[in-house]
Amino acid sequence: MDGTASRLLQDLKSRLGPEIRLVTLESPDYQTAISRWSATSIRPAGIVAFPLSTKEVSNLVLFATLHRLCLAVKGGAHSTGGNNSSDGGLIIDFPKIWDVSVDLDNKVIIAHGGCTWEGVNRVTEKYKLSVVSSTISNVGIGGSTPGGGFGWFVDDTGQ
Ligand SMILES: Cc1cc2nc3c(=O)[nH]c(=O)nc-3n(C[C@H](O)[C@H](O)[C@H](O)COP(=O)(O)OP(=O)(O)OC[C@H]3O[C@@H](n4cnc5c(N)ncnc54)[C@H](O)[C@@H]3O)c2cc1C
Repeated sequence: MDGTASRLLQDLKSRLGPEIRLVTLESPDYQTAISRWSATSIRPAGIVAFPLSTKEVSNLVLFATLHRLCLAVKGGAHSTGGNNSSDGGLIIDFPKIWDVSVDLDNKVIIAHGGCTWEGVNRVTEKYKLSVVSSTISNVGIGGSTPGGGFGWFVDDTGQ
């Protein structure tokens, strides 16, 4: 890591605190951190961050903006176009941002950006509710809600 990259990393650590996991090229788990469902999406990121809270996500976005870094978000990692990766930039890896709650009266589900459909379905089944989602349970809700939507109810609902 050169001096500029090292200073960037120190700045990021000082903004986020010691709890957040940051992976760089020198980290032993770097290859795992940049792996994706499709090999066509793998790019050599500069830093991969694993936030645990929405506040940390917000600080990461601010940091990327301040330093004009290329920023990419990874949810369930199933896209094939490479938009979940960055060549040299900062990755926000979402799957630790995970929570699902159900508003039974209004039949509304609130799920955090790192959830997969499996995680959502495991909570909603307790309430006998199902979601128009994906047929594959480990697809991320963050990517497939705006970019997918083909699920088991397609015959009934068209989705
Ligand atoms: C094996 C396989 C099976 C599939 N099956 C289905 C299916 O049955 N039905 C269907 O509709 N689609 C299906 N898809 C397509 C899938 O919906 C899309 O590839 C979707 O983009 C994957 O979302 P992801 O979160 O897993 O992927 P990612 O690659 O992590 O994300 C995809 C895009 O969304 C962005 N993103 C992810 N999470 C967030 C977030 N929390 N906030 C902001 N941006 C975010 C990423 O930056 C990226 O641009 C399948 C894909 C594969 C590879």
